[in-house]
Amino acid sequence: MDGYDVGSVHQFHEHIIIKGYAMRAKHMMFFLLSLFLALSFIPVGSMAEAPQVGYIDVHSHIFGITGGRGGSTDYPGAVKKALSQMDKAGISIMLVMPPPFTGGQRGVFEAYDFVSAIREYSGRFAFLGGGGTLNVIIQNVAQSREISPEVRTRFEEQSERLVTLGASGFGEVTAEHFSLSSSHPYESTPPDHPLFFLLADIAARHDIPIDLHMEAVPQDMQLPDDRRLKQGNTPARLKANIAAFERLLAYNRKAKIIWAHAGWCNTGQRTVKLMDEMLGRNPNLYMTVKIGKDSMEETRPLTSEMKIKGEWIDLVRKYPDRFMIGSDQFYLTPMSPLRQPPGRLESITAFMAQLPQDLAYKIGNENPKRIFKLGK
Ligand SMILES: [Zn+2]
Repeated sequence: MDGYDVGSVHQFHEHIIIKGYAMRAKHMMFFLLSLFLALSFIPVGSMAEAPQVGYIDVHSHIFGITGGRGGSTDYPGAVKKALSQMDKAGISIMLVMPPPFTGGQRGVFEAYDFVSAIREYSGRFAFLGGGGTLNVIIQNVAQSREISPEVRTRFEEQSERLVTLGASGFGEVTAEHFSLSSSHPYESTPPDHPLFFLLADIAARHDIPIDLHMEAVPQDMQLPDDRRLKQGNTPARLKANIAAFERLLAYNRKAKIIWAHAGWCNTGQRTVKLMDEMLGRNPNLYMTVKIGKDSMEETRPLTSEMKIKGEWIDLVRKYPDRFMIGSDQFYLTPMSPLRQPPGRLESITAFMAQLPQDLAYKIGNENPKRIFKLGK
């Protein structure tokens, strides 16, 4: 991890607990007084809104692009925005990553661009890399299963560079990404493509996970007749990908693969039953929960009244070690020309507050620390 310590906040808390009895009375009084002062500045409203159990959000995006000339950026501004939201929502640590870019897209960035901004806040952030480089290579050669030695070498070198930089995983990469507007790319690569196999081997070698965005298509199907989906460039006919995804999972069982966005589905096919079967067959499969009204209602974890669905509690209870929270919240610099994306943390807060506390603690804290080796 190259001296980049994401666990210092937690180590600090543990230190207070373990060494607390040994603290001299003077120090204890000072500590209590500071705590009292700190608490008195937290507005009552934000305490009521925060989930009962604080959590780690393992899938978020920061955007530093300012819209100024020459592609100028302000990642520190985006990070400050993220921090203030984290404190309000009870997010202890956030994992940020570039989204799954394509080569021709404007404003492509990679973890190198934002890493110095998050390192200002040791213990609050970690990152994944590859969305701006590895995913671009994958989508470029998606149509061919013949990979030239040059592409293979470039892909491996890029992966190793990200690991050296301190990436806690590879992401965000995609096998099936719908286009939701004319400027939002449609991306489709078979999950059993040789570059996904190669990435699985590299991830296994370093024992870091892959974060994969993939709409669920169990069989070839028509794009659902939905106004939102038809605004983009997604083709009317979709190719099956679940069997190919299971070939990727079986190819290297030491590669941990996180299927991002459980609960945010645009085909209506990522049902609790499908996820249950896949988790049962694939011990190296993990999932992160994302909730938003911009998805098919029947596959969301919450009802329209924000009540958690019983089948979701049962699913998490059945596989308590395989779920995490990945809100997919975007944080823009105040100078951003982009439209402010929808807030996703309120629904995550509602989901976490209605999960049994032991499960909420596991998916919000234990699992991310173990899977991403945070605090080590
Ligand atoms: Zn995604």
